[in-house]
Amino acid sequence: MTKLRCAHCNDLFTPAPQVPKQTYCSKPKCQKERRKQWQKNRLQSDPDYRANQSRAQKAWSEKPSLKGVENRVRVGLDLTDVAKATIASDDVNTSNFTSPVIDILEEMSMYCA
Ligand SMILES: [Zn+2]
Repeated sequence: MTKLRCAHCNDLFTPAPQVPKQTYCSKPKCQKERRKQWQKNRLQSDPDYRANQSRAQKAWSEKPSLKGVENRVRVGLDLTDVAKATIASDDVNTSNFTSPVIDILEEMSMYCA
């Protein structure tokens, strides 16, 4: 596995196989920086995301059905599209919600940004 250099601490790390564009290592301080940069970049470059952010957060907090969403994330789609699809979907089922899936979605979207 090819090692990459962390954009924050400059250490070498092995990227997760499903995240080829990973730019930060797994240290908590670097993940924090990654989130910060991702948010900043996202807000600057994607007005659609900005407009949808509060809706998306509302949708997540309402615990949508994530079965299809998780699959789509696995094949590398952007969370924004996934979130839109979820929000647009009528079959929101709170009983299917699992918080680890939300964590995965968040992690994947940030890694891929
Ligand atoms: Zn690092």
